[in-house]
Amino acid sequence: MTKPTKTELLKYKQVLEKQLASLRGDVGSMKDEALRASDQDASVDHLADQGTDNYDQGFMLGLIENEEDTIKRIEEALDRIAGRGEWEFGICPACQEEIDQKKAKDAKKDPKKAKAAKPAKGLEPWIPKARLEYLPWARYCVRHQEVEERNRESA
Ligand SMILES: [Zn+2]
Repeated sequence: MTKPTKTELLKYKQVLEKQLASLRGDVGSMKDEALRASDQDASVDHLADQGTDNYDQGFMLGLIENEEDTIKRIEEALDRIAGRGEWEFGICPACQEEIDQKKAKDAKKDPKKAKAAKPAKGLEPWIPKARLEYLPWARYCVRHQEVEERNRESA
């Protein structure tokens, strides 16, 4: 787990931009389709079909919502690559927080030693490359992603 190189960042940026463009296109056409579906419902004698239409529309709206979520995440990741994000691209902010807390704790225990000590092994805020290759807009490492999702569900 190391900091992404400039070449890697460029590659992620290209992947993200491509994804973003295709998702934006998708959402646009899905919205059109959803609108058309609701027009039909309002106007014509498709009463028998209405059930399925409503289902389709709900399904579509769910998809749109999901994709808009992903779009937001991609935009945030692109901001991070450009240095305008809330944190540096490739870092898991929750890991970073853990490291900072541990550093603060060590410094309290033994200020001299904490200053001299190199960061302990396994204490890296970087999201593993394999994860970023697969999901360049990932905000957290796998471990913290799970924590985050659990928190969201119970909230
Ligand atoms: Zn993490």
